[in-house]
Amino acid sequence: MFDISPELKKNLAKARAFVREELIPLERDFLAKGFNAMEPVLQQKRQMVKELGLWLPQVSKEYGGMGLSLFEHGLMSQELGQTPIGHFVFNCQAPDSGNMEILIDHGTPEQKEKYLMPLLRGEIRSCFSMTEPEHAGSNPTMMSTTAVREGDSYIIDGHKWFTSSADGAAFAVVMAITNPEASRHARASQIIVPLDTPGFTLVRNIPVMGEAGEGWASHAEVRYEDVQVPLTNVLGAEGEGFAIAQERLGPGRIHHCMRWIGICERALELMCTYALKREVAPGRPLAGQQTIQNWVAESRAEINAARLMVLATARRIDEEGQYAARDDISLIKFHVANVLQQVLDRAIQVHGGLGMTDDTPLAYWFRHERAARIYDGPDEVHKWSVARRIFAQYAS
Ligand SMILES: Cc1cc2nc3c(=O)[nH]c(=O)nc-3n(C[C@H](O)[C@H](O)[C@H](O)COP(=O)(O)OP(=O)(O)OC[C@H]3O[C@@H](n4cnc5c(N)ncnc54)[C@H](O)[C@@H]3O)c2cc1C
Repeated sequence: MFDISPELKKNLAKARAFVREELIPLERDFLAKGFNAMEPVLQQKRQMVKELGLWLPQVSKEYGGMGLSLFEHGLMSQELGQTPIGHFVFNCQAPDSGNMEILIDHGTPEQKEKYLMPLLRGEIRSCFSMTEPEHAGSNPTMMSTTAVREGDSYIIDGHKWFTSSADGAAFAVVMAITNPEASRHARASQIIVPLDTPGFTLVRNIPVMGEAGEGWASHAEVRYEDVQVPLTNVLGAEGEGFAIAQERLGPGRIHHCMRWIGICERALELMCTYALKREVAPGRPLAGQQTIQNWVAESRAEINAARLMVLATARRIDEEGQYAARDDISLIKFHVANVLQQVLDRAIQVHGGLGMTDDTPLAYWFRHERAARIYDGPDEVHKWSVARRIFAQYAS
């Protein structure tokens, strides 16, 4: 149904082999010791990825990437998603990949030199700071953070949370109100804030299902108090914050969904290999139980269907743009997040007590990817927006 070039086929096979041989063996240590302890070895693996020509799959060749289309990167993302460290090692991890896109499309030459180039080289990390604890994130136009002009600077004040990967990041892209009198969608701007600027505080890494994490693998509560940055740190024009955020959401959702398909594939593999070898009585492996067989078959069907939906959506965005694909984007966002949750749940159940440990990546994914149904728009918001347009087709 979907043709892919021989070159992409070769690169996907290289990525698959790299994930199997170099990254999956690191998983147990990553889960036990955390991101910071593992960063030096992850940086060595990044060097190997650069030498293989697989660095920055989602970025154009002009900026040193592989130049894959969204559809092609979807396929790559599926390979990398099979381990929690895949995307980081190939430098296509959220939230940096979104910030790279914004800087490529809207950065000034000076912003690109100072922030984008070191990000592309993998020398620094970044974060995206929009959600606030005091307001419903599903309506991001409600926001208290302000950026007030004073001479040739902005003074930023605000309280954010779930600023993923702020711990150890060099800069944040902060969403702040710059034009309070403007219409709802033209009030905010995206402003680059180096995190060593006085007035920035990382309050805490928020425990997610009991795990605070660290470094790239964390989600921070942060405060901006009289943070002063030059006016030249605004991305695009003042008031364009939401328009720019909207641009990054379509591709970002394909990246997430195909990563989730990768997780599902690995969960199914773990489920099957374990069910084949775990005996409930001598000579009677779990794989012989009909309930387990149903779970395996249902998971296979759900994953295959989800993949087709995501790839078709990616192709539509590549060919017609994300506005034309907006319903498809909403459909895959909630559908694939639920397939993911279901498949992970079955895989954990098949593993019994082992499924609850960090001896496999299943429990880590179950803890962290529960959020798939919440970030980038909760399920209910996507369903509401799609249903409205479906009803409109039938209203006379
Ligand atoms: C792990 C994780 C990482 C994140 N990373 C980032 C990040 O890097 N940067 C950042 O800025 N933010 C980030 N977020 C925040 C995320 O974008 C918000 O959590 C999300 O937008 C939802 O906002 P909220 O949590 O305030 O929930 P609310 O908006 O308060 O919604 C609560 C619940 O109400 C229901 N609901 C909401 N609206 C509707 C509706 N219209 N109809 C029916 N039901 C509705 C939904 O069930 C929803 O889950 C992250 C969140 C998580 C969990």
